Amino acid sequence: MERTLSIIKPDGVKKNIIGEVLKRFEHNDMRIVGLKKIVLSKGDARNFYIVHKERPFYDSLTEFMSEGPVVVMVIEGENVISRVREIMGATNPTEAAPGTIRADFASDIEHNIVHGSDSGDSASYEIPFFFSAMELS
Ligand code: UDP
Ligand code: MG
Repeated sequence: MERTLSIIKPDGVKKNIIGEVLKRFEHNDMRIVGLKKIVLSKGDARNFYIVHKERPFYDSLTEFMSEGPVVVMVIEGENVISRVREIMGATNPTEAAPGTIRADFASDIEHNIVHGSDSGDSASYEIPFFFSAMELS
């Protein structure tokens, strides 16, 4: 059993597809063990995406992530880190496989609806970033 952190980004919340995204995870034998809707400050977004601090898109990305509410969740299941990434699809929606969340809903490489931890190390940083142990069951 593994856990991963996923976020429905501000564009996904605005498009009213919170339920659609949750359904795709739940229908793939994954369990939502933590869930909340929050608003990130720019500083929160900068800390969350600190691994990208040298990238040219860092400022724009963190502005976007703090422009409206997001839904953060912890998902549990077998190989859930890589399986969530498969259901999400490639970062750039033009490269995302048909039927993935990003292929179906994302507008562009920045506004791509969902986040998912990319490794066990990332999940270990990202889960406690948003959730305490008592919020996970
Ligand atoms: N991003 C962007 N431009 C790029 C690459 C990424 O705006 O050229 C944004 C996009 O929202 C992406 C996030 O930065 O989801 C984090 O990038 P990463 O490479 O970690 O992609 P992910 O793991 O989300 O697929
Ligand atoms: Mg990433």
